[in-house]
Amino acid sequence: MLNVIIFGAPGSGKGTQSENLIKKYNLAHISTGDVLRAEMKNGTELGKLAENYIAKGQLVPDDVVIGMLANVLDSKKDAAGVIFDGFPRTIPQSEALEKMLKERGQEVSIVVSLEVEEPELIDRLIKRGQQSGRSDDNLETIKSRLDVYKNQTSPLKEHYKTTGKLVPIKGIGTVEDIFLKISEAVDNIK
Ligand code: AMP
Repeated sequence: MLNVIIFGAPGSGKGTQSENLIKKYNLAHISTGDVLRAEMKNGTELGKLAENYIAKGQLVPDDVVIGMLANVLDSKKDAAGVIFDGFPRTIPQSEALEKMLKERGQEVSIVVSLEVEEPELIDRLIKRGQQSGRSDDNLETIKSRLDVYKNQTSPLKEHYKTTGKLVPIKGIGTVEDIFLKISEAVDNIK
């Protein structure tokens, strides 16, 4: 099973490139952000809890996100592979993912890290906010999401570098060119 983590700051293109990967490699998509937004839309307890964090651009607590992941993962067990989009975002989440995969006889296959500079990220997120209507795509929340990325999520890169699974890819250029580079990296490990 191909287990791809797509890694990068908010606005780096994870969602867009995930869609391309899903089509080309027939993968199931696990986006914790999408799961949380669906819970919010349905007005569940989990959704209500998540809303407070998402609106401020903060991370939803690890135990909540980790707890919800096992069920999602099991619902995808017949897929050819999974793409993890927006998870893991902290060291404890990465440890939990490795444990969950190990228990299922699997492991992380590759970590694709989309590299984009901060001014470009802010530009993209503001533009996306004008179209998406996402409550967290406003300047104040964007800034705190980028801080959270820098402080809590980007340290994961070092962790995946030591496992030899990290493939940094420049996330600037056309969507097609970037996807070509991602596909080459995935084909290399297959
Ligand atoms: P995303 O759609 O991946 O940009 O996620 C939107 C928001 O959902 C984030 O800013 C967090 O508040 C929350 N979120 C999504 N995934 C996670 C995660 N793995 N850990 C904690 N919070 C998350």
